[in-house]
Amino acid sequence: MTLAEENGRLQAEEDMQKVLWSPALIQQRVAELGASITHDFAESLPLVVIGVATGAFMFVADLVRAISLPINVEFIRIQSYGNRTESSGVAVISDELKLDIRGKHILVVEDIIDTGTTLARLVLYLSGRGAASVSVCAFLDKVSRRKIPLQLPAGSRFYRGFECPDDFVVGYGMDFAEQYRNLPYIGVLKPSKYSSLPD
Ligand code: 5GP
Ligand code: MG
Ligand code: MG
Repeated sequence: MTLAEENGRLQAEEDMQKVLWSPALIQQRVAELGASITHDFAESLPLVVIGVATGAFMFVADLVRAISLPINVEFIRIQSYGNRTESSGVAVISDELKLDIRGKHILVVEDIIDTGTTLARLVLYLSGRGAASVSVCAFLDKVSRRKIPLQLPAGSRFYRGFECPDDFVVGYGMDFAEQYRNLPYIGVLKPSKYSSLPD
């Protein structure tokens, strides 16, 4: 590790109040999820994994390596505008899917489910494009904050890495004001950090 890299990592750790999931815990859970998905979809091919950019990029990269099936990988961009730690309740797809998904089984891969707004919108959009099924794999799930229950089409599956406490988390792809995405662990920032950055 170079001096600059080392400094960047230590700076991020100084910003953390607590680490919730270490790299080893994350990798262990990803391996389990990959094994379940491999088992469950062996008879449901072709399978298209659709990652939700940007937050899920790291989880997608790890998860697809743990899935031993021939798959396609795509990304979609959907934004729910709001303030920095709360969703607005309106999710807009800003980068349309180029792939024809008619008759294909879809696995949407998300970093975290909070109110459920983003996924509800995405599931409707993908089923509207003729997908055979729309399953969801979310690494974290803030169950206590759900406003819109997850309704999946018949034959779809739901996977969750961990249930997440009602804290705003960063790392493993997830940001606060576009920072901290590259941390290999998931944690909660010190309260001062959530108020110290400009809007
Ligand atoms: P929802 O539409 O379910 O309310 O929100 C989902 C999106 O909000 C997630 O995909 C994620 O981008 C963002 N989000 C929700 N909770 C958190 C959190 O604790 N940390 C971060 N970094 N993003 C979150
Ligand atoms: Mg997301
Ligand atoms: Mg974000």
